[in-house]
Amino acid sequence: MQCKAGPDPALALAGSLMKRMIRCNKPGCRYCEKDKGKGHGPIWILSVSAGSRRVRQIPVPAHLKQEAEEGVRRYTEIQKRLKQISSLSLDLLEERKKR
Ligand SMILES: [Zn+2]
Repeated sequence: MQCKAGPDPALALAGSLMKRMIRCNKPGCRYCEKDKGKGHGPIWILSVSAGSRRVRQIPVPAHLKQEAEEGVRRYTEIQKRLKQISSLSLDLLEERKKR
């Protein structure tokens, strides 16, 4: 039986991707008008946990957005598989205790 290739762990991103509008603060900018303008963007931010409550926010340029999205999806997928493996390992451990 051939081993089915899983998600490539080298391309996994532990974070979440979010959208944000930004303000340029230039006087007279119609996008940034108070209460009216929505700002510029959206720009994409990859929010990555950097341990002990710290979060890194990394701007992702539009042409890399899809790739980043893919990486986040991959990370989630790998985590899911690890949980499945752990669950099987637990079953195996219980099984071996009986012998
Ligand atoms: Zn502006």
